[in-house]
Amino acid sequence: MKTQTAFPTDFIRAIIEEDLKNNKNGGRVATRFPPEPNGYLHIGHAKSICLNFGIAAQYRGTCNLRFDDTDPSGESKEFVESIIRDVKWLGFSWEDRLYYASDYYEQLYQYALQLIKKGKAYVCGLSADEIKEYRGTLTEPGKESLYRNRSVEENLDLFQRMRAGEFPDGAYVLRAKIDMASPNIVMRDPVLYRIKREPHYRTGNDWVIYPMYDFAHCLSDSLEKITHSICTLEFENNRALYDWTLEELKTACHPQQIEFARLNLSYTVLSKRRLIELVEKKYVSGWDDPRMPTIAGLRRRGCTPEAIRNFCERIGVAKNDSVVAMALLEHCVREDLNERAPRVMGVLRPLKVIIDNYPEGKVEEFECPYHPQNPGMGSRQVPFSRVLFIEKDDFQEIPPKKFFRLAPGREVRLRYGYFIKCQSMVKDPKTGEVIEIHCTYDPQTRGGFAPDGRKVEATIHWVSAEDSIPAEVRLYERLFRVANPASEEDFIKYLNPNSLEILKSCQVEPSLKGASPGSRFQFERMGYFCLDHLDSSGQALVFNRTVTLRDSWAKLGSREKK
Ligand code: ATP
Ligand code: MG
Repeated sequence: MKTQTAFPTDFIRAIIEEDLKNNKNGGRVATRFPPEPNGYLHIGHAKSICLNFGIAAQYRGTCNLRFDDTDPSGESKEFVESIIRDVKWLGFSWEDRLYYASDYYEQLYQYALQLIKKGKAYVCGLSADEIKEYRGTLTEPGKESLYRNRSVEENLDLFQRMRAGEFPDGAYVLRAKIDMASPNIVMRDPVLYRIKREPHYRTGNDWVIYPMYDFAHCLSDSLEKITHSICTLEFENNRALYDWTLEELKTACHPQQIEFARLNLSYTVLSKRRLIELVEKKYVSGWDDPRMPTIAGLRRRGCTPEAIRNFCERIGVAKNDSVVAMALLEHCVREDLNERAPRVMGVLRPLKVIIDNYPEGKVEEFECPYHPQNPGMGSRQVPFSRVLFIEKDDFQEIPPKKFFRLAPGREVRLRYGYFIKCQSMVKDPKTGEVIEIHCTYDPQTRGGFAPDGRKVEATIHWVSAEDSIPAEVRLYERLFRVANPASEEDFIKYLNPNSLEILKSCQVEPSLKGASPGSRFQFERMGYFCLDHLDSSGQALVFNRTVTLRDSWAKLGSREKK
């Protein structure tokens, strides 16, 4: 059967389709997403989530959520909960298949005993530094450990005593006995277990030995009867050990490991170590700071799960590393919000406008559509009165060339309202700053058109001073000021000092009263904004700018887009 064209095609799906054709795995497709709960998920993880869950859905298979929690340091329940929340929010379901590698500790231990009994693993007393030194280099073979040829009995005894807690951290490790001269350094007697006397967030003090990733991961996959174990390219060399372990232990299920290129995104970092540093050293307000590339940060900023999924689909899956332009993610977010965000008016930097010929105390209501291209979204009433606020930037006392908005003697259209003409202005006597402008309106232009057919060059947004409500608006820029901060060891140096600007005295139209936390809007002419779900409350509205209206991606040439 041909694949439907609506699904993406890539080399991983090609492998799966070939396997299905050959009835490998009895026609089953089972994938998993295996995060370590030592941080929040980021947009790179979203790529892996979309891939694993997407493949399962496409081929009527299953995708498990498995916490790869084999290192007590840094793992926590908070991270588990955040990961569960984020995968759900992205729109994926593991149904009842939620697993923890820590539930397999006993089985993994039994597997380790089996390897020892086969003479394929030994307890080594070299220090970490010595192990490193003995490992050799790409050009030189390694050196065998002096403990490599202990008897099976001695190894069993020592390993059991490691488990029983008789030795301090680092005194011994369990190592696979493979080949110290292997051209693949991963195969030079890799460590399988280490002693770590640290309580684990799930197993407490039950264990003082913990399996290494390479040992735990393949066996967890096998226990869950995964068919295709999809991981990122840095594990390419580890595939030999994955296969060696499962072959030596003759497991019933031997999944196929397939590597793909991880997502790198410009102007940000996607390494957990670095994200942890940003959070712990308080360069950002937390994992969900709207400037963070985390799912929680993107959500708080106002991105939709649809936009993120669409982004992941567009970047595709390849076998070579590359850096994806942040502008593409912003483009996907903008494209999605353009469809779904209701249009409203909000003035970020208010300038008072008094319409001298408009009766005092009079209020008119204009009916304004929520989406000019989509009448189905309905409309709301926006009050108009004698005193308004407009955007400071929309007025210039001495307008430069190509500035077509308000200036002395100039007429502009108020969106959905009247034409107004600037007659005079009031300045702060101390600073000379224009603090108020006086206009007249033309009552004939209600709705925005003049019966005599005269044109204006600009339409600006506004709110009624009396009826508008105050709001705080947080404007976000990119977190880093260079395109590739990840390539720098001292990446902190490249943080963008202007990544957050807080505007405290904004005014938004009254229809926003009671908006639900997390709801998203387009403030006409200003960008897309989302009501912050943490800091916003009844009367004190706080909006995060999700993204501006300007699309730098659409402007990029096709060569730069790649
Ligand atoms: P660390 O940076 O600490 O190694 P990690 O980012 O690999 O952590 P894990 O929790 O081990 O985090 O990742 C879970 C899964 O997400 C893994 O299968 C990993 O390959 C995948 N993943 C992680 N980062 C990316 C990325 N940037 N692009 C695509 N997939 C990723
Ligand atoms: Mg990892």
